[in-house]
Amino acid sequence: MKTEALKAEIVRVSTEDGHAATVFDALVCDCGSETFTLFSDEKVGGALAVCSACEANFSIYDTADFLEDIGQNICACEHDVFCLMVGYTLDSTGEHARWVYVGAECTQCELIGVFVDWEEV
Ligand SMILES: [Zn+2]
Ligand SMILES: [Zn+2]
Repeated sequence: MKTEALKAEIVRVSTEDGHAATVFDALVCDCGSETFTLFSDEKVGGALAVCSACEANFSIYDTADFLEDIGQNICACEHDVFCLMVGYTLDSTGEHARWVYVGAECTQCELIGVFVDWEEV
């Protein structure tokens, strides 16, 4: 995973939105895998990652149960397996996420982008 490049892309996108992400988590499965398929709801926000090795489900910031219109995220190259990093901006208490960004790096063409972001309310 190109950790720094992925982090930089999340910072770039979140800064454009007016609130730069400051906390980052690279997603690693308990089985050791760093590659996932990603499902998200671009309207209400929220995302679910599924380990490409053991199929364990990861609810990003506990949003998976609230997804309504779920779409699978596919790269421009049509590949569907990614390394994922979640970036957060924190609320005024500094304890909870305010905005959540899910960044992805395609494991085939190495394209990096932010697939989905949402505001925690
Ligand atoms: Zn796994
Ligand atoms: Zn790709």
